[in-house]
Amino acid sequence: MNHCCGKSITEVFGINVFNDSVMKQRLPKDTYKALKRTIEEGEELTLGIAEVVANAMKDWAIEKGATHYTHWFQPMTGMTAGKHDSFIALTDDGRAIMEFSGKELIKGEPDASSFPSGGLRATFEARGYTAWDCTSPAFLKEDTAGNKTLCIPTAFCSYTGEALDTKTPLLRSMEALSKQAIRILRLFGNTTAKKVLTTVGAEQEYFLVDKNLYQQRKDLIFAGRSLFGAMPPKGQELEDHYFGNIPDRISAFMAELDYELWKLGVSAKTKHNEVAPAQYEIAPIFTTGNVATDHNQLVMETLKSVAHRHGLACLLHEKPFAGMNGSGKHNNWSMCTNDGQNLLDPGKTPHENAQFLVFFVAVIQAVDEYAELLRLFAANAGNDHRLGANEAPPAIISIFLGEQLTEILEHVEYGKVRACKQNGDLKIGVSTLPRFPQDATDRNRTSPFAFTGNRFEFRMVPSSCSIAGPNIALNTVVADVLCRIADRLEKAKDVHKEVQAFLQESIKNHKRIIFNGNGYSKEWVEEAKKRGLPLIKNTVEAIPYLLSDKSIQVFTKHGVFSKTELFARYEILLEDYVKQVHIEAVTMIHMTKKQMIPAIIRYTTELARSITEVTKIGGISPAVQTKLLSQLTKLLERFDKELDILEQTLYQADAISDNRYEQACYYRDHVFTAMQILRKTGDELEMVVAEDLWPFPTYSDLLFGI
Ligand code: ADP
Ligand code: MG
Repeated sequence: MNHCCGKSITEVFGINVFNDSVMKQRLPKDTYKALKRTIEEGEELTLGIAEVVANAMKDWAIEKGATHYTHWFQPMTGMTAGKHDSFIALTDDGRAIMEFSGKELIKGEPDASSFPSGGLRATFEARGYTAWDCTSPAFLKEDTAGNKTLCIPTAFCSYTGEALDTKTPLLRSMEALSKQAIRILRLFGNTTAKKVLTTVGAEQEYFLVDKNLYQQRKDLIFAGRSLFGAMPPKGQELEDHYFGNIPDRISAFMAELDYELWKLGVSAKTKHNEVAPAQYEIAPIFTTGNVATDHNQLVMETLKSVAHRHGLACLLHEKPFAGMNGSGKHNNWSMCTNDGQNLLDPGKTPHENAQFLVFFVAVIQAVDEYAELLRLFAANAGNDHRLGANEAPPAIISIFLGEQLTEILEHVEYGKVRACKQNGDLKIGVSTLPRFPQDATDRNRTSPFAFTGNRFEFRMVPSSCSIAGPNIALNTVVADVLCRIADRLEKAKDVHKEVQAFLQESIKNHKRIIFNGNGYSKEWVEEAKKRGLPLIKNTVEAIPYLLSDKSIQVFTKHGVFSKTELFARYEILLEDYVKQVHIEAVTMIHMTKKQMIPAIIRYTTELARSITEVTKIGGISPAVQTKLLSQLTKLLERFDKELDILEQTLYQADAISDNRYEQACYYRDHVFTAMQILRKTGDELEMVVAEDLWPFPTYSDLLFGI
């Protein structure tokens, strides 16, 4: 569909964004050029320039009906935040005018003491700084009532300069990668590229359920996933939902979603049904890593708000419904020069192939060397329900290359392909190297990390989280390997020999990470163990890797995280896990005590009454009622005991608050286990109790209601 709400896509696209063309139009030439230098080359922004930009931005926003502005930032809650200030200022004679200064544009000082800081910011130093990230354009956010706020994407730091957000380390990691990639490009004779950017396209999966039903489920409201729920008679076994017809109500939702996203300059492109009933996906066209991360936050926020308007609720949780497929994000990632050369594009000439191979093999090496870190940055309590289960990528990191590319690497490894120098250029295996497959469309859906023709697709990323984390990890570890390659090649007397040697060594040492088979199979787990690949089963097991020597070394070396920041993030990750499981446990207790047990008692009372009444008549036996009553009573007793155990474990868990790691382990091993046991009985009860007495909507209602 090309039109929406009476307007064409081109008319609507980016209408609420202070983008390049708006800046070009509204800024004096010199200011525009200076700002572009800051955006593209990282030149410092003077206050004078900021003043002019701020003024133009304010005028633009006010013309479009904005009354407020906010420094839009991404604290370590995984969401976005901002304190809204109006443009209003008073003149000496008490009149209201609209003002917005350069200082206000480039720096904010929110009192940010209630955002997670992992101990980085004591409350007496509650001040946090927000600093404008001019590489991501400002935009107008509209609420349902039509109120508009100018949002200025910003980084968020503590008084002492430590990052308190996800954007700051992301920008640092992009810079680190750029620096090292440029060194490699220079060795290949590229003298013009000024910067290497990461490009990212995030496919987002989500569920939609009816809002009225959603509001009757405390678990969906508080935990974002169902904590109870028996399987419906039909699940996803017929595979009839995937790419199936989109129902009208969902279609109307999607049309408005696209429209809202287009206004924000988010290039929503693909949409379709996913595997599970009520599950869908949206994918934008890729853009630079930083903007893609901001856009993915906007996608998640817009999904929720548009759903709300359509009487729907959007669930972004990794596993909203046990027994059904969960949701993830596919983080498509590549590296691209500022003049548009995709470094993971195999290209057509052998020369291009040599350069491609270095970048390509560097990524493979990085993923193998730092598999634990990638695993960690894709871990959260929600993803623990998916990874390793029989649907999503397994918990073991491996790379899918496809047969052709794997074969090419074998040729390189065994010296069948040689690098040589011709006309001063470095060439690889002119005669023997086959043409790279240009359309290596990946049909392997079981791999957590796949090469898909001209990019890698990191498929483990949790659906509810910011994609900043996985990209920070990816950028940093690739930067690290590129740095070591550059060190080696820059020193080499004969660069082409050294490239050859590096490729052979790297492929030999790291090919264990390449796996083209079925990642869900049991055999793979055994095979991976033999290969020495780390199998990190859950979030709590993954978190300590953040403080491993390897992690501290790589993040500090490239200036992405300081040691202090790593320690802080370690605390936050543990705290986050504990809080999430805690909320789930408490919600389960509430549902059990206040909803399910009372409903079961009502039903047993009904049965007991029926038994008495039927017996009174005489001559007929209330056998079925008696059987049901006895079955229910037994289940109810078990349910009650299991509830007690859950309450006890929760009590125990709270007592270990002085050691976060130990506490997180306890939550995983005891609280979570007790929850699973309680759920099993609860779901059995759901199958026995009369439907009209069951206190909340079931899976059938939720998943097949639309
Ligand atoms: P699939 O469902 O087969 O994985 P989609 O077409 O749904 O593929 O999504 C592919 C995503 O990859 C899109 O967001 C697309 O913009 C993105 N993409 C394509 N090329 C690149 C690239 N060079 N760098 C980063 N992302 C890319
Ligand atoms: Mg994909």
